[in-house]
Amino acid sequence: MKVFLDINDIKKHISELKQSNKIISLVPTMGNLHSGHISLVEKAKKESDVVIVSIFVNPIQFGPNEDFNKYPRTLEEDLEKIKKAGGDIIFTPSVETMYQADPNDRCVVSSSYKSRLLCGKFRPDHFDGVLTVVLKLLNICEPDKVFFGMKDYQQYILIKDMCESLNLNIDVVACPLIRDRDGLALSSRNAYMSAEQRTMALSLSKAINSIKNAFEKGEKKVKHLKGVGLNTMSASDVAVQYIEIVDSNSLMSAEEAKKGDLVAVAAYSGKTRLIDNIIL
Ligand code: AMP
Repeated sequence: MKVFLDINDIKKHISELKQSNKIISLVPTMGNLHSGHISLVEKAKKESDVVIVSIFVNPIQFGPNEDFNKYPRTLEEDLEKIKKAGGDIIFTPSVETMYQADPNDRCVVSSSYKSRLLCGKFRPDHFDGVLTVVLKLLNICEPDKVFFGMKDYQQYILIKDMCESLNLNIDVVACPLIRDRDGLALSSRNAYMSAEQRTMALSLSKAINSIKNAFEKGEKKVKHLKGVGLNTMSASDVAVQYIEIVDSNSLMSAEEAKKGDLVAVAAYSGKTRLIDNIIL
């Protein structure tokens, strides 16, 4: 397994691989890897010849009061896990390498209206920061395929849209959301929670499942379905940021829910912001 910190070094290596017509995949991450991330690496391994995993905690996707400084950084453990999962190349640049000058003083990608819905209402510049770093990683690594988890469903849709809008010839592959045995969606941020907060956090997956059950029993009114979810969450002490039922492509809401719609939730358990989703 090769580890690169420098953009020119990895570009040179990739151009050599391209000469032998290898199918190259990229799995972008911010590190502190868990089984959710590893499932992406394993899927990429099955679907390509060379798997690149990037590990970069991207400052421009964090808001001023968010957790950029305390975000868990566990490079040694991450390298072991990627090696075991069959990853071939790691790209882990510094912030200076990625942005050279002040990250806010550069050209950024401006995303569509979809970046201002759901999480975007509460994290105004987040998705522009995500799209900018992903476009940079795609230009550096020139993959044939790029893999994203459905855990961050809105992010996946925005990246798919970016690749289509900007005519990038890259296959954007969606990977299933991986949960712990008790239903909690795996996330690097779960480590911030106490045992009690973690138990409270289970109300997110319970809420989206209660909505799905009510929908399958025949309830179609979005207002009523949201009420079912909010009711489930009111049993715990989480602070709900939003719970929405939207079209899974346009991310727009309607009065009635339909099969294939996205149920998405964001809530705080203590100070930890968590998200979860399910497709009806
Ligand atoms: P992150 O390191 O949080 O930026 O995540 C890197 C990639 O892993 C993104 O495509 C995420 O959607 C994906 N990911 C994170 N958690 C999960 C999970 N529980 N299940 C599936 N994919 C995940």
